Amino acid sequence: MTEGSAVVSDLAAWQTATPLAALDWRSDHWPQLLPWQEAAAASMLAGGRAAWPQSLLVTGVPGIGKMIFAVNIARALLCEAPQPVGLACGTCPSCHYVAAGQHPDLRLVEPFGPDDDDAEAVTLKALDHIPIKHIRELIAWANLTSHRGGAKVAIIAPAERLHPAAANALLKTLEEPVAGTHLMLISARPGTLLPTIRSRCPRLAVPLPSATRATVWLEEHGAADPGPLLAQAGGAPLAALAAQDVQAERAVWLAALGRPRTLAVVDLAARIERADKAERKAVLARVIDWLIAWVGDLARVAAGGEPKRNPDHASALRPLAAAVAPTALFRYHRCLLGQRDLVTHTLAPRLVAEMLLIRYRELFR
Ligand SMILES: [Zn+2]
Repeated sequence: MTEGSAVVSDLAAWQTATPLAALDWRSDHWPQLLPWQEAAAASMLAGGRAAWPQSLLVTGVPGIGKMIFAVNIARALLCEAPQPVGLACGTCPSCHYVAAGQHPDLRLVEPFGPDDDDAEAVTLKALDHIPIKHIRELIAWANLTSHRGGAKVAIIAPAERLHPAAANALLKTLEEPVAGTHLMLISARPGTLLPTIRSRCPRLAVPLPSATRATVWLEEHGAADPGPLLAQAGGAPLAALAAQDVQAERAVWLAALGRPRTLAVVDLAARIERADKAERKAVLARVIDWLIAWVGDLARVAAGGEPKRNPDHASALRPLAAAVAPTALFRYHRCLLGQRDLVTHTLAPRLVAEMLLIRYRELFR
């Protein structure tokens, strides 16, 4: 694979793998900064590009647009005629190369690799990890001279999926960065990264919009009832938009969680296998997110508060919160978080769901 084609396929993989299809893409398919990100990006770029850190950890909850933010920062750092506020001009040759996924000085490093089972068509499949091979290629690329004479930018996402060997290899580059090269690590779970990586990267928290602004944005993107969607997504607008498509499935799972004594564990968990095999880990991740939100609400209601993530199920949550022991609930919450971190390595998503549902049912015995 040549240098240029690796960049193209990486960006193509990102564009197909990122659940942003519902967003308004411009005709050149470039993901514009979200409206509430513009001021933040401009203020961060105001110090001048020379002051931009060589390594950066871009964090924030899932579904707030970390990748959109990062690729726009990358485009700005590579732009040959930036706007006075530091953002990309959108029209120079460099901006065009970035939008076309062909900028030789931009690299996206992600858990995708060639699909060896499909040798005829050149396709990519999702890997459990970002393998060390990708980081070795990144290091070789970082040591090349810039093709267009400016900066070079690499985005590593999601950083928590770096294989331990890949993380260690990356560490050396973070310790001795190559002049003119900027690395951006994207992570929704920075706590799971190696402490040595965290300590070498200044942290940039991608801003979350106010509820009002997010509601307006969701309405503009066709959400009929943004309030509950935004609550479910913990205020993250892109996650709220994606949640729209799974409301019917969520209703089935939450109805079952509302009646733990009659919960049909095997039948409910089997719903995961209605999805294509390649999608099942993602479905399990969504189910675990629903469980985490549900259990968090149980704890809130048990403490005398109101449900934050599932306000539409308040009447089901109240009697359950009164019946559950706080320590057992806390332990179960810990178990859910652990499984959420392991979800990409899960071999049998349905069995994990069964185990989690059995443990849920036991909370009410
Ligand atoms: Zn430009």
